[in-house]
Amino acid sequence: MKQGLQNCGKCGLCLSACPVYGILKEEQVSPRAKLQLIKSHDNKSLESTQGLKEIVSRCLMCGSCAAACPAGIDHYSKFMEMRKQMVADHGESPAIKSMIYLLGREYRLKFGTGLAKTGQKMIPDALARSFKLGNIPIKNFPTLNPKPFRTQQEVIVPAAGDPVGSVIYFTGCATNYLYEDAGKATIGVLQHMGYQVIIPEKQCCCSVPMLFHGAQDQAMSNIRANIEALDPGDVEAIIVDCSTCGEALENEYPKLMEQGDDHAAATQIASKVTHIFSFVNDHMDLLTFDTAGDNPSTVTYHAPCHTRNNSQGHLAVESILKQLPNTDYRPSPDRDQCCGGGGTFFYEHPQVAGEMMAQKLTSVRNMEVDYWVTDCPVCRLNLAGNLEPQDTMQVVHPITFLYNALKA
Ligand code: SF4
Ligand code: SF4
Repeated sequence: MKQGLQNCGKCGLCLSACPVYGILKEEQVSPRAKLQLIKSHDNKSLESTQGLKEIVSRCLMCGSCAAACPAGIDHYSKFMEMRKQMVADHGESPAIKSMIYLLGREYRLKFGTGLAKTGQKMIPDALARSFKLGNIPIKNFPTLNPKPFRTQQEVIVPAAGDPVGSVIYFTGCATNYLYEDAGKATIGVLQHMGYQVIIPEKQCCCSVPMLFHGAQDQAMSNIRANIEALDPGDVEAIIVDCSTCGEALENEYPKLMEQGDDHAAATQIASKVTHIFSFVNDHMDLLTFDTAGDNPSTVTYHAPCHTRNNSQGHLAVESILKQLPNTDYRPSPDRDQCCGGGGTFFYEHPQVAGEMMAQKLTSVRNMEVDYWVTDCPVCRLNLAGNLEPQDTMQVVHPITFLYNALKA
């Protein structure tokens, strides 16, 4: 059971786990100090100031501190509550406010991404080359999906061959609007395994970006809509291809829906949420691989913080990559080091994010791989967005890599 911040013994074990502290080496941004600041703020001995908001914002919400904490403190919930308070006291930047507004309703998001798509086509090359969003040059942003992924799919996608069961697929916003290849591969792998895939039409943003930015009130309507859309019935699992969505569905929804029917429904959903690689790893016998060829692809893996700290899906990803034919898996020495993406962290704190990324780039360049796979859309955006023209490795979701290894 998670503990309150009064249980912090100030042992400091969370410091070496914290990527932000690792770069800045300032006690005030460490998880330990943030907890003490929150405690002082809660007992009214510390005033709420813009400076306090800034310190609280220097956090990737990666969960590595909680994973390392021997006292079992729930940093995640404490940080989220504090962020909500800071936004109530000091407001939010126009860019973040706009993001929250768009994510709050699916029709707005659809409209907003439609406009962004037009903007992507019209922006002059010179401008795209010279401007950055956070630490990522605009020219390196991926092209948005031509149509939202879910609108390209039937609500029920049949299994290939004899069906062995049904799963629900929660696509998340990134697959729906940005990385349709990951969605197609997820469905393709599940079909190949013999699963019917249900893609509920009414699903919407999991709400994590809103929760991280203190917009809990705006998040609740999405959360209720997802609870209704994802009624699991007798499906075997609710599959996610993004661990952050998975973390929200599994841990935050039951906490936020404190009682009654909504809590029961959220708990039932939580019990079925499964990372796609954990699911595949449990059913490897259902996959048939293409074993032809004698020129293996070299691949390494960046393990996203939420995959490591919430679902342990990174172990499944790595285990599967090691088993694939025609694949030369090269473990990265900094597989578990945060890349600095962290939702909007790369945008809000580009210098810190840039330093985290620089370490990873040096390491992956030395490995000379064809593929750099990662199962978080923001990590993918950040890794691919910071490559230089001379870098030849492709950054993809590992499900795409796995799908390409299957026998047709
Ligand atoms: S690891 Fe846990 S108990 Fe130790 S300083 Fe960090 S928050 Fe406190
Ligand atoms: S959530 Fe991550 S970035 Fe934030 S304090 Fe904890 S370890 Fe550091």
